[in-house]
Amino acid sequence: MTIWYNQVRVRIDLQALLHNYDVIKGYAANPAPIVKSDAYGHGLKAVAPVLAQAGATTMGAGTVYEAAVLKEELPNLEVISLLGPLEEEDYPLACEKDLIVFVSRTEQLLLLEEEARRVGAPMRVALKFDTGMSRLGFSPGEAAGVAAVLDGLEFIRASLVCSHLATADDPDQKSYVQDQAQRFEGILQVFNARGLAIRASLANSGAVFGFPNYHYDLQRPGIGLYGGNPFYGSAWEDLVPKLAQAMSVTTKLIQIRTVTSGQSVSYGRTFVSKTEMRIGIVAVGYADNYSRGLSSKGWMYLRGQRVPVLGRVCMQLTAIDLTHVPDAEVGDDVYLLGGDGPQAITVDELAAWWGTISYEVFCLLGQNPREYVGQN
Ligand SMILES: *Cc1c(COP(=O)(O)O)cnc(C)c1O
Repeated sequence: MTIWYNQVRVRIDLQALLHNYDVIKGYAANPAPIVKSDAYGHGLKAVAPVLAQAGATTMGAGTVYEAAVLKEELPNLEVISLLGPLEEEDYPLACEKDLIVFVSRTEQLLLLEEEARRVGAPMRVALKFDTGMSRLGFSPGEAAGVAAVLDGLEFIRASLVCSHLATADDPDQKSYVQDQAQRFEGILQVFNARGLAIRASLANSGAVFGFPNYHYDLQRPGIGLYGGNPFYGSAWEDLVPKLAQAMSVTTKLIQIRTVTSGQSVSYGRTFVSKTEMRIGIVAVGYADNYSRGLSSKGWMYLRGQRVPVLGRVCMQLTAIDLTHVPDAEVGDDVYLLGGDGPQAITVDELAAWWGTISYEVFCLLGQNPREYVGQN
């Protein structure tokens, strides 16, 4: 849902997205772009067609509903629902739209069989196994049982066997990736031994760049497509070639004022000026998903320079230090993310100040009104 009440504008550069897709294609033979959560806040309906035009034939969305929206947009695309059927209405919808749904419980297989029988058409599923996240998925030990259940079903075809890695972005925990891959191998053997030709999929962005041995048949890159480096801040940071950040976010400078020495700024008086200084008030706050956690920690960008956030981020207003930007004027665009020069703010930097990861920054800031550039 778009935040409709503000001056914050999200700009999505579709050429940047294509650049990142090309980079990923250089590493992964068969990447299925992950476009869940409205393409990580970049807008599913704008992002997916661009990637499809660039050659992507499979994509992963989140809920069945989101996957159905994607399929409606691109009827020839192979569409995966990563969350799979959760609600009663998901079963007929998945069937009607010919989605490949993640399945992680036997009950889901039986309900899908029932639905497919009613319609009289076969249905494809992706078997999700939990090899180390302790989240959704069959346990590795259930593989033979799942295969036996499938044998007894008439309408359900297993199209993929999948699992998800917990530590692919952390070189210090690469042995855990190896443990998960080993468990995944064991699962694949069960299905291969039965002569079932099922595609295997394990790799997220971290594994696309860091673990070429675990690419299998289909890779599932998400964050890298949007320009986030999965290894940011780790020893493997430089393993990833320069990605282009697809999202930048601006708002307006709405007032400039001078505060005197000893004067405090914003709620709680957490910032008190030590000298006379020029400050700017910008039209953004936590109601626009600009986290209050950025109070006195974040930086913004205007007129070629980075400026610090002063004091507490409010609901719709935030103060910045304009001491070193004497030419700033009311009405200027202020970047919360991105910028037009070498001092531009990267998503990984903003995430670090925010105390989170690039994924959350994209998902949250992306809920503001968006516009697109770089269309073909
Ligand atoms: C989100 C997601 C991905 C993509 O992960 P990134 O780290 O963004 O590359 C891959 N697989 C599944 C199942 C996911 O939910």
